Amino acid sequence: MAGKVFLVGAGPGDPELLTVKAYRLLESADVVLHDDLVPGGVLRLIPPTTLVRNVGKRCGTKSVSQQEINALLVAYASSGLQVVRLKSGDPLIFGRAGEEIEAVGQANIELEIVPGVTAALGAAAAAQVSLTHREKASAVLFLSGHTKASRKSDLPAHLSARTTLVIYMPGSDYAETSERLLAGGLPGQTACAIVSQVSSPNQRIHRTTIERLRLAPRLPAPTLLIVGEVAGSAVRSAALPERLEDPQTGFHQAERGLEVAESPERFLVQWAAGGGP
Ligand code: SAH
Repeated sequence: MAGKVFLVGAGPGDPELLTVKAYRLLESADVVLHDDLVPGGVLRLIPPTTLVRNVGKRCGTKSVSQQEINALLVAYASSGLQVVRLKSGDPLIFGRAGEEIEAVGQANIELEIVPGVTAALGAAAAAQVSLTHREKASAVLFLSGHTKASRKSDLPAHLSARTTLVIYMPGSDYAETSERLLAGGLPGQTACAIVSQVSSPNQRIHRTTIERLRLAPRLPAPTLLIVGEVAGSAVRSAALPERLEDPQTGFHQAERGLEVAESPERFLVQWAAGGGP
């Protein structure tokens, strides 16, 4: 069988957010090359006989260069193996996919791309925010907090609170971010939500405004910043409770709920016991 490379999105964290196709490919691949941000729960779905390599970078120092990753993809697939290149979220959003697509194409190796749930959409779901709420926003912009060339982001010159911004890799210099947003013309009262560790049991949300952003707590990475009128309705805190993991599948047995609201299960139990409305 000819080798093939699959560029696969692992989603933001919760293995239940994998596509069925991604799940099937993880079960059948010969080799999986993954990034640091790919969550352990997803990696545990890979059979023990599969060759699994972390080719991610840690704290800015690259353990494996992009060129080496390209060469590995080509080498494994050229020897007839089915290679999954697993990236967090969606592979085509801030995932350096372009370089890998090019390298695989130049080597005349078949490539298939399997999309995943990007962190912005995971964060919107966690914060229960409609990114394009029809009365509050008519556009969404995905931005990187810093570009390859500079440590700073390329924010558009004119921003509108009716365009929802989702800033990936926002860094921790919130004072600077807030200055740049104000300089772009956004009012200080524009709502923001910092969403940390989306779809993991440690998921946290902090809602604030651009003018108060510099006072916000530095929540654990990875984080995303949602800016715009729609962020004003972000639920303030939405930690997912600890979940038990099924040792057979590695999937979490979902016992979901929000810190802000009584969980429906508890509510129903109370109600059945006569403590309800
Ligand atoms: N391809 C990925 C993005 C990789 S860039 C995707 O589509 O989601 C890495 C950045 O994504 C992080 O710095 C952070 O801003 C964001 N990110 C990825 N996973 C996240 C998560 N679980 N929670 C919050 N932000 C996340």
